[in-house]
Amino acid sequence: MAKRPFTVVRGGKLLDIAKRKAVPADILIKGDTIAEIGRPGLAAPAGATAIDARNRLLHPGLINAHTHGPGNLGKGLYDRWSLELLLTASQWVGIGRTLEDKYLSALIGAAEMVLKGCTAAYDLAAEFPLPSVEGLSAMARGYEDVGMRCVLAPMVADISFFEAIPGLMDRLSPALQKEVESFKLAPWKATTAQMKKALQKWPFEKVHLALAPTIPHHCSDQFLISCRDLAKEYDVGLHSHVAESKVQVIAGYQHYGTSLAAHMDELGLVSDRFTVAHGVWLDSDDMKRLGDRGASVAHNPGSNMRLGNGLADMRAMLSRKVNVGIGTDGASCSDNQNVYEAMRLASFASKVQGPDHATWITTEEALRAATEGGARALGLQKQIGRIAPGYKADIVFLDLHHVNWIPMNDPVNQIVHAEDGSAVHSVMIGGRMVVEDRKLLTVDLPKLAARAAASQVRRAKPMGQAKTLYDRLEKVVGAFCPGLAKVPLHIHRFGASHHHHPH
Ligand SMILES: [Zn+2]
Repeated sequence: MAKRPFTVVRGGKLLDIAKRKAVPADILIKGDTIAEIGRPGLAAPAGATAIDARNRLLHPGLINAHTHGPGNLGKGLYDRWSLELLLTASQWVGIGRTLEDKYLSALIGAAEMVLKGCTAAYDLAAEFPLPSVEGLSAMARGYEDVGMRCVLAPMVADISFFEAIPGLMDRLSPALQKEVESFKLAPWKATTAQMKKALQKWPFEKVHLALAPTIPHHCSDQFLISCRDLAKEYDVGLHSHVAESKVQVIAGYQHYGTSLAAHMDELGLVSDRFTVAHGVWLDSDDMKRLGDRGASVAHNPGSNMRLGNGLADMRAMLSRKVNVGIGTDGASCSDNQNVYEAMRLASFASKVQGPDHATWITTEEALRAATEGGARALGLQKQIGRIAPGYKADIVFLDLHHVNWIPMNDPVNQIVHAEDGSAVHSVMIGGRMVVEDRKLLTVDLPKLAARAAASQVRRAKPMGQAKTLYDRLEKVVGAFCPGLAKVPLHIHRFGASHHHHPH
């Protein structure tokens, strides 16, 4: 059957962010790309597939600037864990994963994201003790089977969490010290070789690769440099969790005598291909450094609250010309994958940071961060993030008869503050309908539920054993790290006044 090259979306109201209006417009799409936007009744070639968008508000597909596909099988697994406890739990959550599990985990997240209006994500995948081409391909298939765009960046490190936090290993009993040898990662050269192998021969169309030296001080300098060089050689992105928690920043000063961002900059990793995940504890010098080099921050306010990391200062980032995208973070710490919610939290988090409303993040800034900002972080700013000729046809159709939109006042305010994903009627990615009338066309959800349940059964035994070790480690890590976070620092990001250290 010949593929119809043209699609025309008729009768919809197109969001104009700058004018805060929904403007009647038709959209002509050729293949996967927007060819023309015009007044209602726009001429279309004979045989073009028509899509009825009456009573729909059309906005650019949201972009999740930071998530972890492997987290989706760990959704709702645990309540009170800090970032450091989550890292301690990595073995418990991730143990015993087959290729099927890696595929399923990515697929579940992609399914949730598209159903909630998100059409592209920066996914920091994980495989232990090092990434594999087979594993990355299984995750990429998850996205491709859903029909979603992704930049897939395997998290890599050559220093385990227990080795990376100064003084932590000494707090572990000799027996536990022996147990955490199972957290040891592969030597960096082996990991670099795997990534190179994947980069050399990557067959996926909508899923691109990038590199994620996961946390700066979890990587030796040689390893960080090899990631920098590999990213340059293959022209791909670099993504790292920098200054996510106060503990990390303090560890960074103890390791390097400088901030984590300054250290990465000294090694030449900070550039316009670089994305900082979180950046909660970046100071103004760090932000200036990132802004001057054209780097991005993936801001994840929900995760930052959930893990007790504090509130990132998005206003300070924007005022230093940092490109900001918005992310949900992984389902083991978010727990949903709802970019509408992440935008709403970005707006709200800013509004609890001070009484001067003129400094608060606006809904327009939050929405641009979750579209254009995310596109730039993914390195896809020429292709996605806007509904405009020449851009990929990644379009969300919101139902204006949904109660979220009765009545419609200011569509920008309403997308960020009122929408929660439940008015998502249809979602088009690259000119193809992936969600239609609230149904995911590409995945059978009851079948997916059965496969996920089988995966739980398969992993139950090793997870049970790993949980026992986690419980023993939680006592030590959970006592030691909050203590480390009491070290005075020149910036303050916690919500509670009893953590405030005036200077
Ligand atoms: Zn993360």
